[in-house]
Amino acid sequence: NLDIRVSIPSNDEIGSLGKAINDLALETNRYRSNRREFFANISHELRTPISYLKGYAEVLKQDLYQTEEERQQYLKIIDDETERMIRLINDLFELSKMEEGKIDLQMNAIDLTDVIETALFKVRIDLKKEGLTLKSQLDRNVPYIEGDGIRLEQIFTNLLRNAVRYTEKGSVSVKIWSALNKVHVIIEDTGIGIPVEDLPLIFERFHRVEKSRSRELGGTGLGLAIVKNLVELQNGTISVNSQVGKGTRFQLSFPAAE
Ligand code: ADP
Repeated sequence: NLDIRVSIPSNDEIGSLGKAINDLALETNRYRSNRREFFANISHELRTPISYLKGYAEVLKQDLYQTEEERQQYLKIIDDETERMIRLINDLFELSKMEEGKIDLQMNAIDLTDVIETALFKVRIDLKKEGLTLKSQLDRNVPYIEGDGIRLEQIFTNLLRNAVRYTEKGSVSVKIWSALNKVHVIIEDTGIGIPVEDLPLIFERFHRVEKSRSRELGGTGLGLAIVKNLVELQNGTISVNSQVGKGTRFQLSFPAAE
């Protein structure tokens, strides 16, 4: 860490210079510790699937299985873990592009209700599989917003997939309407909810409430960080409310196009 602390208790230019140096040192340290944490997270996230791959490849190599069924199970684990590593690497690449401002959005006038219908169509199978009810209230006359259709769809499929993923029974509801020159969307579920102390952190990279549960369900812990970046790149806002055991509600707003 940068160990600088200047103490110049005067109110003139030298005093403000001292304060600027202290702020800079603090910011540098914060940046370094974020970076450290980020790389520690990536190594951990990659090490887990790789150790599965290694372990099960070894089992297969040495014929350490009893039945054909068991062999198939091991192959499936190898396949799933490879899949998840690919997802993780793609997500990381995407996030880093966004954070460097190197992502090209194709901005157009977009009907957000259409986008949401497409996203709903895509997750319908998952909803059915989980036995959840879908409730939707879609205003078909909302004003256009300025955005990238593909990226907007990515935002909503991601939020809907999370809603399905973290809900055991009940429903997933989607509502879209417009008011005061904005288009608003709510995605709400009756799932496991998010503890209040985790709420301010869930848009951070790799933050998960329950690591093992998210992992079991195929999550990478990067989805919401990507969602938030994409929302903000399209001048929108996203916020979350939740109650453990009751459910979670994400609200998004985008300015209507001129
Ligand atoms: P993951 O890939 O782990 O789902 P995300 O970035 O999409 O990562 O979400 C971060 C964490 O926020 C999740 O691990 C989960 O703990 C929590 N979370 C996200 N959406 C919901 C939801 N609808 N209900 C409950 N918890 C959620």
